[in-house]
Amino acid sequence: MNQGNEKNRAGWNFDNSYSKLPEFFFTIQELNPVSSPKLVILNKPLATSLGLDVQALESEESVDVFAGNQVPDGGLPLAQAYAGHQFGHFNMLGDGRALLLGEQITPKNKRYDIQLKGSGRTPYSRGGDGRAALGPMLREYIISEAMHALGIPTTRSLAVVTTGEQIQRDTRLPGAIMTRIAASHIRVGTFQYVSRWGSVSELKELADYTIQRHYPEIDKNNPNQYFLFLQEVIKRQVSLIIKWQMVGFIHGVMNTDNMTISGETIDYGPCAFMDTYDPATVFSSIDLRSRYAYGNQPKMAGWNLARFAETLLPLLHEDQEKALEIAQNAISEYPMLYVDNWVAGMRKKLGIFNEEDQDKSLIDELLEMMEKHKSDYTNTFRALSYGKQEDMNLFTTPEFKQWEKLWQERLSRQSESMEASLQLMKDNNPTVIPRNHRVEEALKAAVENGDYSVMEKLLKVLSNPYMETNEQESYCTLPPDPDRPYQTYCGT
Ligand code: AMP
Ligand code: MG
Repeated sequence: MNQGNEKNRAGWNFDNSYSKLPEFFFTIQELNPVSSPKLVILNKPLATSLGLDVQALESEESVDVFAGNQVPDGGLPLAQAYAGHQFGHFNMLGDGRALLLGEQITPKNKRYDIQLKGSGRTPYSRGGDGRAALGPMLREYIISEAMHALGIPTTRSLAVVTTGEQIQRDTRLPGAIMTRIAASHIRVGTFQYVSRWGSVSELKELADYTIQRHYPEIDKNNPNQYFLFLQEVIKRQVSLIIKWQMVGFIHGVMNTDNMTISGETIDYGPCAFMDTYDPATVFSSIDLRSRYAYGNQPKMAGWNLARFAETLLPLLHEDQEKALEIAQNAISEYPMLYVDNWVAGMRKKLGIFNEEDQDKSLIDELLEMMEKHKSDYTNTFRALSYGKQEDMNLFTTPEFKQWEKLWQERLSRQSESMEASLQLMKDNNPTVIPRNHRVEEALKAAVENGDYSVMEKLLKVLSNPYMETNEQESYCTLPPDPDRPYQTYCGT
C-alpha cells in the first residue's frame, strides 16, 4: 500500500469484479462533483470492520470520496443496469442516482460493494436529477443500521455527506450522498434486464458470477446448478421476509428491482415499522392499493421470486417446457416453506422449542386478539418476554387469560426450563424498534437545525434491541396518537 497517498491511507482495498462482466451490465461513469461536501455522519464500527481507517475517513480527501468528487484509489465508478417490476409494471431502470465505486475486500477477505447514492445523473436517470435529499438518506442510515442490529440481513450505511447544494422536490431541500455497503447490488431486476434484452450467454455470465459471489457452495459442475441456485435464492428470501414479519418491518416498495439476490434488505424508501398490530398496515403514500401491506409481503416476495425464476428458464433446461416445469416446481415450494419457517419463527417469539401441530393455531389466536384489541406489536411480545403484562388492555381480557393458560400448558410440554423459554423469547423479541415518531424527531433535528445528537442517541439505543436497558424506556412508548395513519413518501 502506498502510505504517502491520502486516498490509500483510508485503507481502500478495491477489486472491481463487476466491471469484468460484459459491458451490457453497466456504464463506466464520470463523477459529478458537488460544491462543498461536509461529512455529517460516519459509521465508525462499520468502517473498522471494512478495514478502513476512521481518522483518515474524516479527512478532506475522504469526504471528497464520499461526495463523489474524487475516485478512491483503485475504485472504478460505474452505474449498474437493471430493470424491474414497479408495482407490477415492467420498466427499464438502472442506477439513476447511484455509482458503484468498487468492491472493498476486507481484512477478513469479504467482498462488499461500496456505492454512492445521490451522486448525480447517469445514463439510467431517465427524468431524474440523480440526487438525493438529506432527510431520506439519514432515514436509510437509521433504518438500515437498526435492521442490522436486529439481526436482519441488510445493506448498511457507512457515511452521509451533505453536498452544499439544494435539490428541488416539492420544496428545495438540502442535497446529500450516502455511502452504501452491500454484499452486492445484484437484484431480481438485474436478471430481468438480461433476460429481456441480453443474450443467453450474458444471462449465464451473470448467473455464474452471482453463484460464485453469493452461493459458492453450489458446485459449478453440477448439471442442476441453476436449479439449486433458484432453490437457494428462494430459501434466502423466505428467511429474510420472515425476519421482517417477526419484527413488524414493512418495506413499502417490494418491487423486483428492490429485491437482492444476496438476500439482503435493500432500498429503504417509504419503509417503517408497524406499531399497532394490523396485517393491513401500509405506510407508503404511493402504495394506493396496499400491494405491499405488512400482511401481503410474503405473497409479494413469492411473486417476485416467480419473476426471478422466469429469467432463469434458458438455463434450467434446453426444452423450455421442461424448464418451466422445473421452475414451477421450485416456486410451488415457496408457500409451504414460508409457513413452516414462519411458524418456527413465531415459536421462538413465544418461547417454544419443540414442535406440535397445534402451534400455528395458538399463534394465530394471539395475533387475532392483538388485532382486535389494537395491541402494539413490539410491546406485546416485549411484555410477554419480560413479564410486564399488566399495563396493556389486551392482558386484562378474559380471552387473553384463557389463551395464556393454553400457552403456559404448551410451555410445560417441552423439556426446556421456563427460564430457557424466557431467554429464547428475549433473544427473539426486540425491546426497541425505530418508531416512526422517534425517527421523524431525529430527522427534523438534523435537517432543520443541523443537530445530529438526537439521531446519534437514537442510533445508540437501536444498536441494542435484544436487551432491556433504562435508556430504552422512552423509546418504547407509542406515538401520542398511534391510530393516526403514518405515511412515508417515495419522493426521495
Ligand atoms: P427507488 O425508488 O429508489 O428504488 O428507485 C427506482 C428507480 O428510480 C431506480 O432506477 C433509481 O435509480 C431511479 N431514481 C430514483 N430517484 C432518482 C433521481 N433522483 N434521479 C434519477 N433516478 C432516480
Ligand atoms: Mg430501488
